[in-house]
Amino acid sequence: MYAKRLDKPGKVKLSDYDPGEHAKLKKEQGEEKLAELGAELAALQELMYGAGQHALLVVFQGRDTSGKDGVINKVIGLMNTMGCSVSSFKVPTELERDHDFLWRIHARTPAKGEVGVFNRSHYEDVLVVRVHNLMPESVWRARYAHIVHFEELLRDAGVIIAKFYLHISKDEQEKRLLAREAEPKKAWKLSPGDWKERGYWDDYTQAYEDALGKCAAPHAPWFIVPSDHKWFRNLAVAEALVETLRPYRAEWEARLAAVGAEQKTALQKMRSEAASG
Ligand code: AMP
Ligand code: MG
Repeated sequence: MYAKRLDKPGKVKLSDYDPGEHAKLKKEQGEEKLAELGAELAALQELMYGAGQHALLVVFQGRDTSGKDGVINKVIGLMNTMGCSVSSFKVPTELERDHDFLWRIHARTPAKGEVGVFNRSHYEDVLVVRVHNLMPESVWRARYAHIVHFEELLRDAGVIIAKFYLHISKDEQEKRLLAREAEPKKAWKLSPGDWKERGYWDDYTQAYEDALGKCAAPHAPWFIVPSDHKWFRNLAVAEALVETLRPYRAEWEARLAAVGAEQKTALQKMRSEAASG
């Protein structure tokens, strides 16, 4: 698998993972593979929608410029967008701050059959909040357990969860920030705060290592995605999503067959009643 899958709590060291990894593939090969995976992903999504038993929640986290917007466009865009909803979580509003941190998140979780995509998520509440001391330590520390329980609740309600950490190097981030500065068409993406956040690189590393290490579970795995190469990042995310959904294929197909059979019986009954009446 191209991304590293973490599915149980443990110690995570991000420096163990190479953000520039590309599995010896060339860009063209990667794009071909992505197209194939995209077709399978769309087919699996359609089965999930038809079966109506599960939802898929996809979480994207990563530092500024790591490619959260890009991967949503390129990979989620391969699915039927009618069945997808994307939620981007920003600095909480006053109303949101007057509730518990999961209130605004829970409201955006996907219904059965649907795909919910989070561009940032509840994890900001143990990342930016921790790095900038926006809440006392006792508050953010308690949140790891809240998050674990919340994700268990979602699992019990039929939500399949895949969480992605888009892993970029410090050098690559500098390049991307400079590119945003230099190109008028990209400038809207740059906020002066991004350079300031970069100054907290090591604090974010520590916060991410804890978030990944404490909140990885079999039903809610984290995937560490090498993201210095955008095309490889897209490929790795698509592959992880396909592998996440594949195990459900037989179950969904069986459900669809059962629904089809029920429908046929109902139609036959209706027609024979119409004929005799
Ligand atoms: P962007 O994703 O570039 O539009 O930026 C959104 C900003 O909102 C980022 O700087 C996030 O760190 C910030 N943000 C998101 N969630 C929270 C949160 N729970 N508390 C504080 N800041 C947040
Ligand atoms: Mg930004």
